[in-house]
Amino acid sequence: MKTYVSHLSCSETGEILPAGQLHNLSPAGKPLLVHYDLEAARRELTKEQIAAGPRSMWRYAPLLPLQNEANRVTLGEGWTPLLETPRLAKKLGLERLLIKDEGANPTDSFKARGMTAAVSMAKELGVKKLAAPSAGNAGGALAAYSARAGLEAYIFVPKDTPSANVLECQACGAHVTLVDGLINDCGRIVAERKDAEGWFEVSTLKEPYRIEGKKTMGLELAEQLGWRLPDAIFYPTGGGVGLIGMWKAFKELEALGWIGSKRPKMIAVQAAGCAPIVKAFEQGERYAPLWEGAHTVASGLRVPKALGDFLILDALKESNGTAIAVTDEEMMAAGKVLASNEGLFAAPEGAACVSALEKLLASGFLSPTDECVIYNTGSGYKYLEAWKKALS
Ligand SMILES: *Cc1c(COP(=O)(O)O)cnc(C)c1O
Repeated sequence: MKTYVSHLSCSETGEILPAGQLHNLSPAGKPLLVHYDLEAARRELTKEQIAAGPRSMWRYAPLLPLQNEANRVTLGEGWTPLLETPRLAKKLGLERLLIKDEGANPTDSFKARGMTAAVSMAKELGVKKLAAPSAGNAGGALAAYSARAGLEAYIFVPKDTPSANVLECQACGAHVTLVDGLINDCGRIVAERKDAEGWFEVSTLKEPYRIEGKKTMGLELAEQLGWRLPDAIFYPTGGGVGLIGMWKAFKELEALGWIGSKRPKMIAVQAAGCAPIVKAFEQGERYAPLWEGAHTVASGLRVPKALGDFLILDALKESNGTAIAVTDEEMMAAGKVLASNEGLFAAPEGAACVSALEKLLASGFLSPTDECVIYNTGSGYKYLEAWKKALS
């Protein structure tokens, strides 16, 4: 199936750039967004064609930027289960709760979705060496997809990154550097060295295609619900790529005429030890300043400064959603409730959403009849240190 990709634009100024080229940030220094000829797609593309596609996120290839299917670098990512969780729902006092289990992806996290898209595009556009800072799972996914494509990966992670992430990078043959600092310190090293080393940078939101991969979480949710959306979506937010991607996906589906204008409340969940989006949302700011002294066991949420802060905050506001923080103790306790009631051994990031849901029901922000969806963005198997500590 052909792609309907048409062009890219700057997420802040709207400046237009051509598709089919390597891109990092826009000339204004902001993330780029990919656009499609959705009018043509509305005339030609059918839900039946999508349904007949592969049982992976590549069923949405017409809405992804890759031109040539031969360049697809895939391990079977996406089309993850959307699980009913009746025992947990009852315990929380909710009529219906669904969990999108992204831990079922290759490399055990939804970072696979972004990296299959970014590495496929890099391969199509002739890149040989890829580099990125990572809080953990993005590095693991980059290492795996680079190995699969026969490309070199250079990955920089904080020295206290969960050991599963470091080991998977090393096993996949990536060049891994442990940095005495946080993900933004790792990012600085990549930015400083990339030109001299000939690396193409695939840092969060510094290239446009990881958003496209992660937007398939939104496409899939709509398809799995019979082309409709729930009342609220809980998303554990670090750089916010998934939230920005899903919000974009919903606009695209409306342009195709496959869903209406109703949107779920988008709820960004962060860790109390690193909650820049929550703070900015509460203060009504459009940008979120760097969070000093970030700490949490949910390594995917340890992102002190998000490049796409304004895109996240816009989506929260437009959707009548909110942002909420939970402590590490709360998220691990919620993870235990989730595992013991539903058999889902979740990443702390996913568990944080269970705790956030509990709080928003208690505050009255959500009602028991609201249909809620939680994204469990990773598997508990990647966080054995955190789980060991929480269960001891
Ligand atoms: C990276 C990551 C997140 C945060 O994802 P963003 O889309 O960058 O906000 C959440 N959970 C897990 C498990 C992650 O690896």
